[in-house]
Amino acid sequence: MHRLRLVLHGCRSALLRSRVVGLLSEVFPSLEVGELLLIDALPTYLYNGFRDQLRADAVAVYLAERYGGDSIVLGVTDMDGYVPGLNFVFGIAMPTIATAVVFLYRLATPNKDLFESRVLKEVLHELGHLFGLDHCGSPRCVMRFSNTVMEVDYKQAVFCRRCAEKLRLRGIEVSQEYVLP
Ligand SMILES: [Zn+2]
Ligand SMILES: [Zn+2]
Repeated sequence: MHRLRLVLHGCRSALLRSRVVGLLSEVFPSLEVGELLLIDALPTYLYNGFRDQLRADAVAVYLAERYGGDSIVLGVTDMDGYVPGLNFVFGIAMPTIATAVVFLYRLATPNKDLFESRVLKEVLHELGHLFGLDHCGSPRCVMRFSNTVMEVDYKQAVFCRRCAEKLRLRGIEVSQEYVLP
């Protein structure tokens, strides 16, 4: 049994919060989703004021140290993130410290359903990485690499059969509704 701790930074939408928690248990029935933690502030050293972005890998390390313990940590923030060499990242997964972070800033749209679906895709994508999956060539698989929000919209919030099977071999069950037929 894997235990997951969800840490939300910013993310004022209550609907979004409950959707993310609900989705995780729905997609991964073998995952124990612990209490939701809401945080308002992150240490200033994680923030690059010149870029107006959070340093993604440093945020992951911070969350792992502070909230990890015996749990996998999934951080979600409504800010933007980057790593050196890239203008931005939608998310980052660091399997060695069992922590992933999703950045919502670039997923924003006035369309609430669309926004929610983008968030869910990025959450599943980064968790997939945490559980050992690489990027996938299957066009609709959630593990496909996305460089733009259009590419996020094109893929689905489901794993292809190969990715789902890889997860199963690692002890992570994926509900049938979240596996491409
Ligand atoms: Zn990826
Ligand atoms: Zn796949």
